[in-house]
Amino acid sequence: MFQVKNLNLIYDVDKEEKVCAVNDVTLTLPDTGLIGIIGPSGSGKSSLMYCLSTLKTPTDGSIVYNGTDYRDMARGELECLRREQFGFVFQHHFLIGYMNVMDNVMVAAKETTAETRERAKELLMGLRIKETEFKKKPKQLSGGQRQRCAIARALINTPKVLFADEPTASLDHENAFRVMQYLKEYAKEHLVLVITHDHSILEGADRVIEI
Ligand code: ADP
Ligand code: MG
Repeated sequence: MFQVKNLNLIYDVDKEEKVCAVNDVTLTLPDTGLIGIIGPSGSGKSSLMYCLSTLKTPTDGSIVYNGTDYRDMARGELECLRREQFGFVFQHHFLIGYMNVMDNVMVAAKETTAETRERAKELLMGLRIKETEFKKKPKQLSGGQRQRCAIARALINTPKVLFADEPTASLDHENAFRVMQYLKEYAKEHLVLVITHDHSILEGADRVIEI
């Protein structure tokens, strides 16, 4: 569970032209559910997600995750938290070019057991990537397949929290809908935060935060 209080993120604090990307945000997020964060381009959605996921340090304010304030955690502890409990889908897929689909998912796995391989297979197939495509390299895939492969990679360790920044941006409507159905199912037992500027993909969300 997240408790965010008076959160601010200012870029270029030391420069003349400061950018206040996150402005005094206070909110509470539950342990499970699909939460949408919606707003126009430049409204600070990604910046808020970077703070919540420890990728950026806020300029001011506090984020308490399961009872611990990020400010009280050492860098190594934050790294552990990210690795053990968080999953990430970014706007860009960031797949590794020389690895095939299966290896791109497995490279993020904590263990490389037969069970993990089975889980990778299930995830990929659940996201509609066929077994015949497992050996393909990212450049042999469509934009949508790459993004779905990145989603499978983000879920391989069954993260407690999935941070997804515009996960459906490169998908057609049908695939976007399927991915959202999949995330909705995952959100029954985990927290899924989806950033978007498209209202239509958040129809099934438990809560929508507008910024
Ligand atoms: P969104 O994800 O909603 O499009 P962002 O969080 O990316 O918004 O950006 C919010 C604001 O912060 C924008 O005005 C953007 O130009 C600015 N910004 C984002 N990243 C940086 C950065 N690294 N340095 C300076 N300004 C930034
Ligand atoms: Mg963004």
